[in-house]
Amino acid sequence: MSLKPRIALLSVFVSAGLLVAPAAQAAETAETSVDGRTVDPRPSTAKLAFELHKLALLSHGKIRVDKIGRSNEGRPVWAARVGHGKTRIQYVTQQHGDEPLGTPAALEFLRQVGVGHSPWAQKLLSKVTVDIVVRANPDGHERDWRYNYDPDATPEYGEKGKGYDINRYHDPAVAPKDNPATEAGLIQRRNASFKPDIMVDYHMQGRYRDANGREITASTLWPTNAGVKQSDVDFAKQIAVVVQRSIDGNGGYVSQYPGGDYQGIARNGYGLLGNGSVLIELSLIPEREQQQIQDALASMLAIARTAADGSVRKVDPAKADAIPPRGPALPGTVEEAHEAA
Ligand SMILES: [Zn+2]
Repeated sequence: MSLKPRIALLSVFVSAGLLVAPAAQAAETAETSVDGRTVDPRPSTAKLAFELHKLALLSHGKIRVDKIGRSNEGRPVWAARVGHGKTRIQYVTQQHGDEPLGTPAALEFLRQVGVGHSPWAQKLLSKVTVDIVVRANPDGHERDWRYNYDPDATPEYGEKGKGYDINRYHDPAVAPKDNPATEAGLIQRRNASFKPDIMVDYHMQGRYRDANGREITASTLWPTNAGVKQSDVDFAKQIAVVVQRSIDGNGGYVSQYPGGDYQGIARNGYGLLGNGSVLIELSLIPEREQQQIQDALASMLAIARTAADGSVRKVDPAKADAIPPRGPALPGTVEEAHEAA
């Protein structure tokens, strides 16, 4: 990296109030390659902001970073947008603060499609626009817990003394201004202004097997609320098959997720709004953490590519019903107290 962009980088970091040894980090990143790096699975929210602004600068304007609002404790909630194509895709990561791995995958996605001038990325960005809410729940991340931070609330969905379960507050009947879960309202607003064709929500789950005892590494599901139009369910199923193929093809093993029908779950809420709405749950497998990030990245790339070339619309939605069901928890692991989605 030449001196000039480094000075520009510095001014960005200073104006963003990010005093995180910028010169050293910029130099370090410039010297490492995109592939084969160890990715930070749990960047601090300050480091996340630093990385997003660095990617925006390195992309020469292709990646646009916005602060879409603030958490209850005043932390910025960031979104990044890349591409200028007609088909619109939204990814959301880390609604649950203790389910982090979609966030580093999002950074890698932005790096791969937004930095550099590879012909495939240029073509992709002419066909799709991808908007990512990166770490929807920074306060929950800070505490390594599921909920946002609202200790005085008595939430219908959430935990008294902690906060709301953001992923139960996407009911389209509740306007963002009336949404008691602040960060869910931010996602609602971003979704309403962006109007995506495709919406994919990244979460994490415990460890599970299939019926034969083989460990599954991720689960996926489409809207199951009865009010979602059949054509929108079918489109979500087509996306889910792309998810399965991309993750299985990357060395993972995808099952269906046994999720609920409640309209406040993002998967259902944005399905009711006509998005092709899909949930992805990465299993918490400590020894497979880097690969889980790579699998999430593979799904992000595959969804964007198949949306760009139209092939997602040619998938047989019935193939989603053939994705194997999730079996029991792995012996010695704790069955979840809550539905993780
Ligand atoms: Zn979750």
